[in-house]
Amino acid sequence: MLQQDYQQEPTYIIESKKRCIELGMNSSEHEPPKNIMAELKLAEKKEAYKDILEVVKFFSEKIIKSLEGTPIVIVISDENGYLLDMLGDETIKSTIDQLGIKTGIQFSEEDMGTNVVSLTLKQNHPVQLIGTNHYHTFLHNSACYGVPFHYMDIDNAILGSICIMTAVILHNPFFLMTLTTVVDSIERELLLRKQNNKLNILNQIMVSKNKKIEEQKKELEVVIEFLSIDITTEIKSNKSMEKELKSQEEFLANISHELKTPLNVIYSTIQLFNMYCKNGSLDKNRDSIFRYINSMMKNCHRLSKLINNIVDLSKIEAGFFELKLSNNNIVEIVEEIVISVSAYTDVKGLSIIFDTDTEENIIACDPEKIERIVLNLISNAIKFSDEGNEIFVKIQDKNEFIEISVKDNGIGIEPNQLDMIFNRFKQVNKSLSRNAEGTGIGLSLVKAIVELHQGRIYVESELGKGSEFIVELPKRTVRQEEIFVSSTLRNKTEDLQVELSDVFF
Ligand code: ADP
Repeated sequence: MLQQDYQQEPTYIIESKKRCIELGMNSSEHEPPKNIMAELKLAEKKEAYKDILEVVKFFSEKIIKSLEGTPIVIVISDENGYLLDMLGDETIKSTIDQLGIKTGIQFSEEDMGTNVVSLTLKQNHPVQLIGTNHYHTFLHNSACYGVPFHYMDIDNAILGSICIMTAVILHNPFFLMTLTTVVDSIERELLLRKQNNKLNILNQIMVSKNKKIEEQKKELEVVIEFLSIDITTEIKSNKSMEKELKSQEEFLANISHELKTPLNVIYSTIQLFNMYCKNGSLDKNRDSIFRYINSMMKNCHRLSKLINNIVDLSKIEAGFFELKLSNNNIVEIVEEIVISVSAYTDVKGLSIIFDTDTEENIIACDPEKIERIVLNLISNAIKFSDEGNEIFVKIQDKNEFIEISVKDNGIGIEPNQLDMIFNRFKQVNKSLSRNAEGTGIGLSLVKAIVELHQGRIYVESELGKGSEFIVELPKRTVRQEEIFVSSTLRNKTEDLQVELSDVFF
C-alpha cells in the first residue's frame, strides 16, 4: 500500500524529493531544524497572529474533539513555515518534540526535507504526505495532511498552514477532506473578523469624527452665541442710533419750520415796507405798519427762544450749563410769573389760577431758570388747551421738597407717550400740536434744569381730560459764598415774550 502511494506520488512531491537529493540531504539522518525563532520574536509573532490563532485553535479543537480517541496533532504555521502552535495528542507531541519539532522552528525543505508544512505553503493548496512521501525516513511512520489558509478577500494573502499529523496506520483521506472543510470555515471566520475589524475601525473613526463634529458643533455654538450676543448688542446700538438719527431728523424738520416761519414773516414785512417806501405810501399805511412791526417783534422773540433753547441744550449736553443759585422765595417767583402771564391767557380765553399752601418758602434756586421752567409748562398748557379751559398753578410744601404743579384740562397725552415727552425733539402729536408751534426741545430742557436743581419732574395725564406736570425742588439753601450772582440786566417782559412766543404768534 505504501509503495503504491509512493508510485502515485504527485509531481510536486517528486520534485521536492529531487531538490532534497540535489541538496545532498541524507534521508536516514535527522538533523534538528536550524531556523528557530527567538522566543521574543515568537511571542511578537503570536501576538500579531492572535486573532488568526484564536480562530484556528477553535476549529482545531473541534477536529480533535470530533476525532476523540484518534491520536492526532495539529500544527499551525505562519506563512514562512514557522510553527506557532501545536495542539492534540500529548504522546505524539512529546515524540516529535524529541525530534526537535516544537513551536518556533521553521519547517523548511532545506532542513526537514519533503514535509507537509513547507510543501503546503509552496503549493498553496491541500497536500497530504503519507509515510514514504516524506523524504526523511524518521517521518515514514507519519501521515500528514496540510491545508493553507488565507484571507478570502481581494488580497487573498497566504497566512499560514494548518496540518494534521497522525500515525501512518491511521491514514484516511477523510483527514484532508475534514481539514479542507474546516479551513474553509476558518477562512470565512477570519474574513468576517477582518471585516468586523474594518467596521470597528470605521465605527471608531465615525465615533471620533462624531466626537469631533460634536466638539466643533459646540465650538460653533459658542461662537454663534458669542456672535449673537455681539450682534444683539450691535443691533441694539444700531437701533438706538437709528432712533436717535430719526429723532434728530424730526428735530431738523421742526427746527427748519420753526426758523423759516418767523423769518418768512419778517422777510415779507420788510418787502412790504420797502414797497411802501418806494411808492411813498408809508404815512398812508401807518396803522398797519405798527401791526407789522409788532408781528416782526413777536417773530424775533420766537427766533430768540428757539436759539436760546438750542444753545442751552447744547450747553447742557456739553456740561457748560450752570445755575446761578441764590436763596429765593419760590412762592413769590412762581406767583409773579402767573400774574405776568395772565394777560396772555386772557387773550386766549383761558383762565389761569394760582394757589399755594405756603406764603413764603426760601429755597436755593436760579430764579431765571425757575422762570423758564414754569413759563415753559404754562406755555404748553396754553398750547394744548382750548378756549374756556383752566390752568392751575399750585405750590405745596411737602416737607422734604417744594412741589410746583402746572395743571390743565386740555387735550391730554396718550399713556404710551408719557415717557417720551421729556426726550429731546419729541413731539407727541404733530397734527394736534400744530395748533401751536414747537420744536420738542422745551420739556427736555425743563427736565435738565430741574435736575440741575437736584429736583425731579413727572407728568400725570389722561387723554382728552388734561395733564398735570409736577416739579419737585429740594428744600435747601446755599451759603452766600456759594451763590452765583444772578444777572440783573434781564428784561423780564422781554423774557416773558420770548418764552411765550410760540403760543402767541
Ligand atoms: P414743544 O416745543 O413741541 O411744545 P415740548 O418739549 O415742550 O415741545 O413738549 C413735547 C410734547 O409734549 C409736545 O409736542 C406735546 O405733544 C406734549 N405736551 C407737552 N405739554 C403738554 C400738555 N400740557 N398737554 C398735552 N401735551 C403736551
